[in-house]
Amino acid sequence: MTDTKMWAADPFWGLGYEWDPQWLLTPSQKALQARLIDLCQTTLRDNAVESDKKLLFPRKNFEALASLGLLGLNVPKAWGGLGENHVCAAMVVETIARYGCPSTAMCYTMHIGAVAAALFRSHDNPTLQNLLKRLDRDVFIGTLSYSDPETGSHFWYPISSGAERVGDGWKVRKKASWTTSAGFADWYIVQTTSPDFGGDYSDLSCFLILKDEVKTEPSKWDGLGLRGNQSGTLEVDNVTVSGDRLVGPVGDGSRSNDETVDPFFMLCSSACWNGISLGLIDIARRHTTSKRHADVGMRVCDYPTIQDYVGEAVIDTNTSRAFTFQMGRAMDDVTNDCDWSIHRDLACLPRAKMLHWMWQVKFAAAKNVAHVSDKMLHACGGTGYKPALGIERYLRDGKAGWVMGPTNEVLRQFVGKAVLLGFESLDYWNQAVNERILHNELKKLDKDAKKALAEKLLSEAK
Ligand SMILES: Cc1cc2nc3c(=O)[nH]c(=O)nc-3n(C[C@H](O)[C@H](O)[C@H](O)COP(=O)(O)OP(=O)(O)OC[C@H]3O[C@@H](n4cnc5c(N)ncnc54)[C@H](O)[C@@H]3O)c2cc1C
Repeated sequence: MTDTKMWAADPFWGLGYEWDPQWLLTPSQKALQARLIDLCQTTLRDNAVESDKKLLFPRKNFEALASLGLLGLNVPKAWGGLGENHVCAAMVVETIARYGCPSTAMCYTMHIGAVAAALFRSHDNPTLQNLLKRLDRDVFIGTLSYSDPETGSHFWYPISSGAERVGDGWKVRKKASWTTSAGFADWYIVQTTSPDFGGDYSDLSCFLILKDEVKTEPSKWDGLGLRGNQSGTLEVDNVTVSGDRLVGPVGDGSRSNDETVDPFFMLCSSACWNGISLGLIDIARRHTTSKRHADVGMRVCDYPTIQDYVGEAVIDTNTSRAFTFQMGRAMDDVTNDCDWSIHRDLACLPRAKMLHWMWQVKFAAAKNVAHVSDKMLHACGGTGYKPALGIERYLRDGKAGWVMGPTNEVLRQFVGKAVLLGFESLDYWNQAVNERILHNELKKLDKDAKKALAEKLLSEAK
């Protein structure tokens, strides 16, 4: 591998390696990155245009990724995977989004999250082990189905779901409002309330569900950006599955969220937003250095205003990348470089202790891509407004960052509330009573209203 970033036979036309944090990567990760950039050049980037225009699921891009062994990126080498770590996962997603296809990067993010949830509880489960061994060979694509139509972006609250014990197996029902790759993925990790759930929504369980067990409506999918990601509705309609389809013990859902699904989703989706930001800067560099104004004899890049736009975009994006990779490294440090065998001890949850850091990472990356896409559009002027340059598609794709759960509104409130009132105040499952509000409202009632309320409460309590 040379120190010059290549694009086919020529030096890359965007930002070179001198603007990438290459010192974080091992020699083999750098070699993988160079091979992946080549694959983006030959295959992924052209398919991205087609996926966007035709709302096409990027299966062809997944086949290309499988040729590099990337579907089993974090799967142990003993099971045929690449045995890679969190830093590498962030690098791979960023590279796909930047040089190749953001829709593919998002579908791949969900695949990596689903693989992590399966690896976490695969130790005594041959069904999960077999699945993890065939990811690249069979281009066996996974995804996560969490968001519920009744609770919107509160994806940790699956109110329209449930499961019950049936003989040696489980009967599972799930309604999801959004599921990336819905109808196109081969396997799904779905979250439901637990079998024998008694009204406590923190009692969650995860199940492995296969393609022929879900009902989806791909023809109804449409969206502003990430149009290839096919995040449509999904239903598991009282499907009976065998006992080994339970991922982890009954009631393991919130541990699975905090230790795998949330950390991997926030790491990889942040890398996707950073990759889109870089993709926009690359295009703006190429365009502004080649477009010339005949009257003043200057190129667009010669105007200090444009230099300021690009300078600020690079600084802000590298701030977000530095944060994303730093947290990838921090998770590598606490997991022996993403060694899944530590989870033979079911109580070993080192990533979960860093969740509040991952909230900050996702907020920063999603906020940055919105700003950078705006400024790179401004830098490219009317030409950027037209689809042909590519800015317009990246801008639409980047818009998903802010609204994808956990949304940026929710995240900044989590952080502010936790800082000011403590983590216990977050109350994900709406269980803690806010005595301050309660007493303040009761103060407003007159004697008769208090009496009527007291009688109503007493009869309810009976
Ligand atoms: C491209 C894309 C792909 C997706 N893929 C998946 C997937 O693979 N799997 C999956 O499970 N889900 C997926 N989702 C769903 C996503 O995670 C959210 O659940 C979904 O975007 C929520 O949309 P909604 O209309 O229900 O928003 P709502 O929840 O109705 O939100 C509306 C507004 O209210 C705000 N809001 C909500 N709660 C609070 C609060 N407590 N405090 C302050 N403000 C609040 C929101 O931030 C937002 O501004 C995907 C979404 C998108 C856009």
